[in-house]
Amino acid sequence: MDLESLVIHGDADGDDDPSIAPVLHLSSTYRAASAQAFAAEATAVRPQHYYARYGNPTLARCERLLAGLERAESALLFASGMGAISTTVLALLAQGDHVVAQTSHYMSTTRLLTALLPKWGIGATLVDQTDTAAFAGALRPETRLVIVETPSNPTLALTDLAAVAALARAQGILTLADNTFASPVNQRPRELGIDLVVHSATKYLGGHSDLVAGALAGPRPLVERVWETAIVLGACASPFNAWLLLRGLRTLPLRVARSNATALALARHLASHPAVARVHYPGLASHPQHALAARQMQGFGGLIGVELAGGYAAAQRFVAALRLAAQAVSLGGVETLAAHAASMWEGSLTPAEIAQAGISPALVRIAVGLEAPADLIADVDQALAQAGG
Ligand SMILES: *Cc1c(COP(=O)(O)O)cnc(C)c1O
Repeated sequence: MDLESLVIHGDADGDDDPSIAPVLHLSSTYRAASAQAFAAEATAVRPQHYYARYGNPTLARCERLLAGLERAESALLFASGMGAISTTVLALLAQGDHVVAQTSHYMSTTRLLTALLPKWGIGATLVDQTDTAAFAGALRPETRLVIVETPSNPTLALTDLAAVAALARAQGILTLADNTFASPVNQRPRELGIDLVVHSATKYLGGHSDLVAGALAGPRPLVERVWETAIVLGACASPFNAWLLLRGLRTLPLRVARSNATALALARHLASHPAVARVHYPGLASHPQHALAARQMQGFGGLIGVELAGGYAAAQRFVAALRLAAQAVSLGGVETLAAHAASMWEGSLTPAEIAQAGISPALVRIAVGLEAPADLIADVDQALAQAGG
């Protein structure tokens, strides 16, 4: 099924409830019909009627749809994107193992790799994601996992998914891609050879800035292995969030297509504005990896990095002067959000770490929502005028 039909029908569970809208199952526990049935649920893999940390019919419905979207056999929901990432990594790695990942990741993923994993004797080598040879050079005999994220924050750098998947697979190493920024509408890593896909479902998948959830999709045996750890670590999704997520997913292809189109128009407009020094957007021919973006993505996404000619102070003034776009973190909702990257990180990172993460002091990230393109262009124009040079 095409994704546009899949988001409407891909969760059907074949039960005999005639409701058109999904039923929200809130029960934390279930009555067993017999001692044998109780024993069977207690020892089942991913039971749906045992105890809600183990699974539940609403979660299962949403997971079926997510698996379909990522062209995977199976999916598992979590309490958050970080719940999905940390549980998956902890489930797949053990003391003495090594992981290869990128210098640029979602900041909490970087912390997981550099601050938490060493406590359990797991090493990580971080490489420049734009350099495929660097991934090959970082692999060791004890490497068990390669983690990629593309496009990544803050400059929308890309990883060549097919190339990295092929070199890891040739050595029997698993690959995990954070597909949050692209969404399965714009990029399907599994079709390029990646084993496992994770999402912050808080972003595009949910799409309305009203839930926090995460997801993992991949081959059934691997997802079941992660589930064994997930029930121990306990970052399980709430049924209500899974229900909201199902509701958001119905319009995912429409929302992402609109955001792609508006972001491209806005990126082009910003690139031609005299108060703008540089625009980072994979859909612009000026993006250093535009050809790769055109090859591995079906759309270029709704995130734009814009560096103001006036530097740090102008960037702060610009974000404050926006009227439609709220000054806020996160992305993927119906509303446009903007954040000054350096202001966001200067409390927790040193200036050297900020520079190493590729964050220019003048950089503003715009997460394009679903407002009329002309209104957003007018908003950035008036804010650029106020921000000055
Ligand atoms: C937000 C985000 C996460 C973390 O997800 P949460 O739902 O906030 O835990 C991970 N990766 C990327 C790329 C994100 O944008």
